[in-house]
Amino acid sequence: MGVREIQADDITRTIRRLCIEANTILGDDVVAALTKGLEKEKSKTGKDIFRQLLQNAKIAKAEGIPLCQDTGMVVVFIEMGQDVHIVGGDLNQSINEGVRRGYRDGYLRASTLDPLIRKNLGDNTPAIIHVEIVPGDNFKLTVIPKGFGGENMSRVAILTPASGLEGIKEFVLQTVEKAGANPCPPGIVGVGIGGTLEKAAILAKKSLLRPMGRRHPDQQIAILEQELLDKINKLGVGPQGLGGYVTALDVHIETYPTHIASLPVAVNIQCNCHRHKEAVL
Ligand code: SF4
Repeated sequence: MGVREIQADDITRTIRRLCIEANTILGDDVVAALTKGLEKEKSKTGKDIFRQLLQNAKIAKAEGIPLCQDTGMVVVFIEMGQDVHIVGGDLNQSINEGVRRGYRDGYLRASTLDPLIRKNLGDNTPAIIHVEIVPGDNFKLTVIPKGFGGENMSRVAILTPASGLEGIKEFVLQTVEKAGANPCPPGIVGVGIGGTLEKAAILAKKSLLRPMGRRHPDQQIAILEQELLDKINKLGVGPQGLGGYVTALDVHIETYPTHIASLPVAVNIQCNCHRHKEAVL
């Protein structure tokens, strides 16, 4: 198989489009999950919030305006075939240029800054870029503008192996309970179990990309997802933290082998504004 060339300009154009679409068009699976949440919610206030979220999604799509004032920090997952060659520019620069243009042309708020000086960088760059090299010559880009209500309430813990499954459940439940209203519930609770410190966190974030309504293919993990979802929805946090049943729309778990001496667990909370878009070049 020969090498397939991908133009850096195409990457920039695609990232620009995905940034705008992700910020204005909520995925059909997320809308379906919110509709299901409305049916499940028992509190009157909670039901009103679900109706407002669905109405908000409709208006944002129809008028091309952002779903939320927090337009997030852009996280980009790339699956890059090992037979792909990027030509005409630098991969990271082409992505950041796409973010710059998307946020400028889409009138989206720029939120990135230097963590010490805390002066806004003005164009929402740089993106957080995760590249995975895979077989073949596909090039897949996934953009998640991540809101920081959820990001701020996310946690990583290195548990002892003896903590086991019970320790994992306790950590996830405590994290969601302590988060309360801050991550703008109801959203998705992404959980990464295993690997190293950073691997667990990336697994948790990547788990958010799974289409809503789909359980993990491994039966044991699927059962754990459902058990945690049921327990989270008994915490009483509810939509926007105002009390009620639906604190989370779902729990997604991904796992990876870890060291005999450790049990890393990460919880990445996603808000109700679950924005992500993908494209294959
Ligand atoms: S956490 Fe999500 S819903 Fe809340 S303000 Fe940020 S982007 Fe908006």
